[in-house]
Amino acid sequence: MLLNKSEFLFKQAQKFIPGGVNSPARAFKSVGGIPVFFKKAKGSIITDEDENEYIDYVGSWGPMILGHAYPPVIKAVQDASFNSTSFGAPTEIEIKMAELVRQMVPNVDRVRMVNSGTEACMSAIRVARGYTGKEKIIKFEGNYHGHGDSFLIKAGSGALTLGKPSSPGVTEGTAKDTLNANYNDLDSVEELLKKNKDNVAAIIVEPVAGNMGCIPPQPGFLEGLRELCDEHETVLIFDEVMTGFRLSRGGAQERYNVWADLVTYGKIIGGGLPVGAFGGKKEIMDVVAPVGDVYQAGTLSGNPLAMSAGFAQLSALDKHPEIYVELEEKTEYLKKRLQTVLNEHELDYYLNQVGSMISIFFTPEVVTDFKTANTTNQEFFKVFFHEMLKRGIYLPPSPFESWFLSNTLTYDMLDDTIQAADEALGIAK
Ligand code: PLP
Repeated sequence: MLLNKSEFLFKQAQKFIPGGVNSPARAFKSVGGIPVFFKKAKGSIITDEDENEYIDYVGSWGPMILGHAYPPVIKAVQDASFNSTSFGAPTEIEIKMAELVRQMVPNVDRVRMVNSGTEACMSAIRVARGYTGKEKIIKFEGNYHGHGDSFLIKAGSGALTLGKPSSPGVTEGTAKDTLNANYNDLDSVEELLKKNKDNVAAIIVEPVAGNMGCIPPQPGFLEGLRELCDEHETVLIFDEVMTGFRLSRGGAQERYNVWADLVTYGKIIGGGLPVGAFGGKKEIMDVVAPVGDVYQAGTLSGNPLAMSAGFAQLSALDKHPEIYVELEEKTEYLKKRLQTVLNEHELDYYLNQVGSMISIFFTPEVVTDFKTANTTNQEFFKVFFHEMLKRGIYLPPSPFESWFLSNTLTYDMLDDTIQAADEALGIAK
């Protein structure tokens, strides 16, 4: 049988790269089949190696809010590259970037650039530990903060127990310092704080969860975390790697008017280049070397190409807040039309949408946390995903990922998506 190019490339890739991919979520493990290999994209249209075009709802897992190959980003990278791809020394663009972040997110007095969301989150908890002198962190089941050891910890048997490594290679010693609470459940957090009195350095949370599908915070949840952190002298870290500069200029903090002590960024901040950042109150950030003793560094951190790309993207978002309004209108349109189609097919579903993040769960349950997210019908999603793919709609290849919309999506593209969903749901059920 003649292989298409993706099939051929996937076979080749597996010879040299573990599982053929450089990040597991790309491997189509949850949906089966061969991952699509892409070679170019423009706006919301992404083209595979066989010249098939798709409407893209992945957006490189979040960064491409202004669409692929956004001209100011491309120009900024081209211009910067002529002057050198890296200096490993301070540059002016880093100051411009830090100032812009501060302008968009007023509680980020100081910001340190890194190269990924993982690095940002790892560094943020080290800073929180250095600042408070406490050891443990609380995270939420189903939230993802990158692949740092401290985050690859699941709740032990029975929620609220000490964590257990969820990946070989993470030690029991590390696991004991990570406590898991239930998302949207303040009581579970309070119980952990009480049991570990005076030893919780930080609570880290996705203010809108995107890594178990899109799950918004219930009213009072983020405010409750803020209060608990104040009461227990614990650092509140919002992991805004997905939500930062997406849910509003100031991210989830601005949207919900709850302000964390430290914030982590990734994805959008780099305009599609590898950038992460952590920042927050001066008093806390002053523990970071070389001001303080909490060590954190990076050969390529603040890289001129990455900073130029990020600066071009953030500047556009800063100057054109109407983008957020338009994006939200488009996402709401998609949501309403999807609801109509799902109702017509008489399916059990729960649809969550916040700003330009949206997810469908195929379940009769109300989805508010990890447990309820897991009731989604994964087999149904698999069929739905592949039927959408056949119809030229590229969704995240997992039932537990948020879709990310870009402002380059047109209403025609949204209508095509609905049409495809109607057909795909008909086949899947
Ligand atoms: N935090 C959140 C909320 C994320 O969604 C991700 C990645 O998807 C990360 C952290 C890790 O970021 P990166 O993949 O850039 O290391």
